[in-house]
Amino acid sequence: MDSPFAFLLPAYMAIFTIVFGLVWRWYRRGAAWWAFGFLWGAVGFAMPLFPQSVQDAPLGALGADGCFALSFLGYGQGLLHHIGRPHRHRLARLGIAAATMAVCGYAIYGPRNQPLEYVASDISCGLLLLPVLIAMRRRVTLKIDRLLFAITALVALETTGRGVFVTLALLAGHPAYLRTIYGFEMQSVAAILGMVWGLAALAAILLDVVAGYARDAITDPLSGLLNRRGFEQALAALPLEGCMIIGDIDHFKSVNDRFGHLAGDGVIAGLAAIIAAALPPGGVAARTGGEEFAIFLPGAGAGEGARLAGVIGQRFAAADRGAIDVAAPLTASFGVAASEAADRFFLDVTARADAALYAAKDAGRNRTVTHEPQIGARFVPELGFPMLLRAAAAG
Ligand code: GH3
Ligand code: MG
Ligand code: MG
Repeated sequence: MDSPFAFLLPAYMAIFTIVFGLVWRWYRRGAAWWAFGFLWGAVGFAMPLFPQSVQDAPLGALGADGCFALSFLGYGQGLLHHIGRPHRHRLARLGIAAATMAVCGYAIYGPRNQPLEYVASDISCGLLLLPVLIAMRRRVTLKIDRLLFAITALVALETTGRGVFVTLALLAGHPAYLRTIYGFEMQSVAAILGMVWGLAALAAILLDVVAGYARDAITDPLSGLLNRRGFEQALAALPLEGCMIIGDIDHFKSVNDRFGHLAGDGVIAGLAAIIAAALPPGGVAARTGGEEFAIFLPGAGAGEGARLAGVIGQRFAAADRGAIDVAAPLTASFGVAASEAADRFFLDVTARADAALYAAKDAGRNRTVTHEPQIGARFVPELGFPMLLRAAAAG
């Protein structure tokens, strides 16, 4: 290739190979496959830089076609990893790559047919992306993934279109014209599209990594529920009206002492699963400490909260614990409190639920205690805003 840009394509692809290789550290396999794709792309596009004798040698030509097939297998695999379906259409994609190599091999080693080789190689790059696009179609929800899908479709169209264009130009009898156009088109369009594609894939992967860390920051790894930070974040987005439940496993220390911490962890995870299964829509649940859980039910009253705590407590006591089953069943205690008009922070209702939990522990454990407002609190709607009437002040 005589163009001054001839170095550009393999060079930027080599840079992408390194960048995706570095990203691999955080993102497991997807980035590695993109690195693989760009590596073979770089080698393939570096071919025109080799002496003409190498380019014209049958093995050189077949090697270049193989590089592009490998690179498109790599990009496709990277995309499939990104959507979490790495094994999708694997046989079909390998079959397309193998068939391409067979056709190219025939075009090179049989009666030399360069146009057939170009057509097979180009169209197969597009075909290799088709199963990937089909697998991606229903799994792109984020904007960046939609962009990635659109660019992938463009790349598939461009490579296939190039193959069709070559065929048409040949049928029209313009082989010399073809060589110039083909070379130029290869460099410019492929370079720009490939770069945009790589950047979009990089952005999608990095956003995914960041989202993963953000999720981890608010999730408790043992229970899968929110942690304290996540609970506070979730509450901050809700109006301060509803019911708070605080739960704590009874005599949990003895579980650890007798059966070990691993068994204790299993008990904690078991209660979390019961809570998650019983949580009504809109409810927020978290593991806020060792064997302590908090649940907030937006808009619910104390009665609704006490009922839910009762259900969770019963299921927990009745759970089958296999090897760690003890003579006395494992139980949990719950404190329940509804928000009140005077509350300013979630901390207010939480403190009352906590006090109710302590009352449940004091009263013998394995029970739910609901905080009873000691003083009459009621709304005076005609004043246009909630007003707390203190019994003491009224009296
Ligand atoms: P009570 O009925 O009064 O709640 O008694 P308790 O034994 O449950 O008392 P407490 O709440 O003080 O004990 C909690 C124990 O939970 C202490 C700690 O060893 C254990 N713990 C805290 N976090 C974990 C954890 O992640 N895994 C395990 N296995 N144990 C934990
Ligand atoms: Mg406890
Ligand atoms: Mg505790």
